[in-house]
Amino acid sequence: ARRVVVVGAGMAGVQTAVALREQGFTGSVTLIGAEPHQPYDRPPLSKAVLLGKAEGSAFDVDFESLDIELQLGCEALGVRPGDHELDTAEGPVPYDVLVLATGAEPIRLPGAEGVPGVHLLRTLDDAERLRPVLAQQHDIVVVGAGWIGAEFATAAREAGCAVTVVEAADRPLAGALPPEVAAPMVAWYANSGADLRTHARVERIEAGAVVLDDGSRVPAGAVVVGIGARPATEWLAGSGIALGVHGEVLADERLRTSVPDVYAVGDCASFPSGRYGERLLVHHWDNALQGPRTVAANIVGETAAVYDPVPYFWSEQFGRFVQYVGHHTSADTMVWRGDPEGAAWTVCWLRSGRLTALLAVGRPRDLAQGRRLIEAGAIMDPELLPDPSRPLKEA
Ligand code: FAD
Repeated sequence: ARRVVVVGAGMAGVQTAVALREQGFTGSVTLIGAEPHQPYDRPPLSKAVLLGKAEGSAFDVDFESLDIELQLGCEALGVRPGDHELDTAEGPVPYDVLVLATGAEPIRLPGAEGVPGVHLLRTLDDAERLRPVLAQQHDIVVVGAGWIGAEFATAAREAGCAVTVVEAADRPLAGALPPEVAAPMVAWYANSGADLRTHARVERIEAGAVVLDDGSRVPAGAVVVGIGARPATEWLAGSGIALGVHGEVLADERLRTSVPDVYAVGDCASFPSGRYGERLLVHHWDNALQGPRTVAANIVGETAAVYDPVPYFWSEQFGRFVQYVGHHTSADTMVWRGDPEGAAWTVCWLRSGRLTALLAVGRPRDLAQGRRLIEAGAIMDPELLPDPSRPLKEA
């Protein structure tokens, strides 16, 4: 390939461009992104950037010296694989190899679109709009007790806002964790002074209030919607590139799409996990770091590079550092290490005695050791595993 074009200038797009150069690619690399800002990292948006503790989160990458051509503020509108051309707002762009890295976009709350005072939290612009909202210490309603909702509620409490979190399910993180594991997290909300309302849905949003489906009115100077994200792939309609049930690009084990010379990576794509025997759609930062290295290796190298990661992510919420590694859906056993009411604990998931996933709250050493044990497919001792004073690697 002589000309690689990467669409989407978020973590996955930037890392693909950088990895191509690191792996010795000498052809041209063009990175096209819809947002006008210098490419930036998202995790700080719900943490330091939101609280004004950091000005921004631009990636520390010198695109010029890497000879990566940046085309910002330019939206891709379609792909014509037969012509090897990408259509953009500024005209067609030819490619030899195209990498799709358009990430995800937040799911909107029906009926809340365009309503003043209703916010999403995905982009730098979103975070900058929310900063003064926190500074003014409005009453805030957060819709959704997922990762973003929990982190936003944490920041809003820290800023001194009154916070109500409205969650349709019976617990926080219902899509990600089983009930026993999410149960201790309910107290995190209460102890931080956030009012968590489970089994609750937003009926409508009025001036200054959110009305729930049980008729209660919750004062709301601002509403933040964090009910999930979906792959940003609508622009691929009609391209012939196969999409999955969540609208994600269906990549293969080398992160190739269904059409020749087009790859997909990061939040916009799913891939078949050999390790877990199912297709994974991962919306976390580490996947947008690791996947691009495989894409670059497949573009540059002679031998096939297969993507089969042990997924990892972290969240900072209510003064706790929460980390998860692996994938637990096919596990047959769950083992606690430490008291879930306490400040630090870990949950391990096993399948046929082997460690497959682990959630660590305030126990980064368990996480680090667990990650290696999962990668190695280590068999654990069920007698020793529950003892939190014993290093995980000795269990
Ligand atoms: P994105 O970051 O979404 O980047 C895609 C880019 O493509 C965007 O800039 C978009 O504008 C652009 N684009 C989309 N469509 C087009 C188009 N048609 N043409 C041109 N450009 C286009 N993960 C963790 O593991 N831990 C965390 O603590 C954590 N915190 C987070 C906090 C927030 C507020 C958010 C929003 C996410 C967080 N994540 C976290 C998730 C992590 O940031 C994402 O997994 C990661 O950003 C995915 O990178 P990506 O490049 O695939 O997608």
